[in-house]
Amino acid sequence: MSYCVHCGVELDDAARRCPLCHTPVLDPNRLQNGEVPPSFPQRREEVLPVSKKEAGLLLTAMLLSAALCCVVLNLFLGRGRAWSLYLAGAAGMLWIWFALPLFLRRMAPALRLTADLAAVGVYVYLISLDLNGAGWFWGLVLPLLAAAEAAVLVLSLLLRRPHSILTRFVMVLCAVGFFAMAAEWSIDSYVQGEWSPAWSLVVCAICVSLCIPLVIVRRVPSLREEARRRFHV
Ligand SMILES: [Zn+2]
Repeated sequence: MSYCVHCGVELDDAARRCPLCHTPVLDPNRLQNGEVPPSFPQRREEVLPVSKKEAGLLLTAMLLSAALCCVVLNLFLGRGRAWSLYLAGAAGMLWIWFALPLFLRRMAPALRLTADLAAVGVYVYLISLDLNGAGWFWGLVLPLLAAAEAAVLVLSLLLRRPHSILTRFVMVLCAVGFFAMAAEWSIDSYVQGEWSPAWSLVVCAICVSLCIPLVIVRRVPSLREEARRRFHV
């Protein structure tokens, strides 16, 4: 360890000048053998990329062990209630959400979203079994999931063909508006028995008010070029 003779700052072994006051470093030992230790390692090493399959296996082991522990605990401390269904179901849902894409990397996005929605459906179904909630599951949850699935399928069909990013954005906004209408229809039909659209109309109005300027920008070449330059699209 050496220090600058002028300002006292700590010096790197390979430094030839003080980084603060630029006073030359004179080390008698270095002058004798003439060797300057390099300030960075000479050996070159590479960090191996993490294998997605191995990460998937790790995640699978974690979720499986957590689910099994809960089931075993439930067997001994259950007191007649199958509470482990909640945790085991959540573990299964998380596995489909996060581990399955690590194993099936070429999965189409629409298929992946469908699997995610199906996982939500199965999980909520398990909860409804414990709570005797067949009524709200079939009357409310299933129509909501069906509406989300319909939006995903239509959107994936539309986005399959090459479109500009503005057109894609308009399509996504249309899907959001459709889902809001379908969601309010399912909720109203279940709760009141009839459809009286209110908040979904607000969502649709916002989507339409965003779509109109996007369509105008898409149609007018000068605006389109300006948007491309400003947003790097
Ligand atoms: Zn100095």
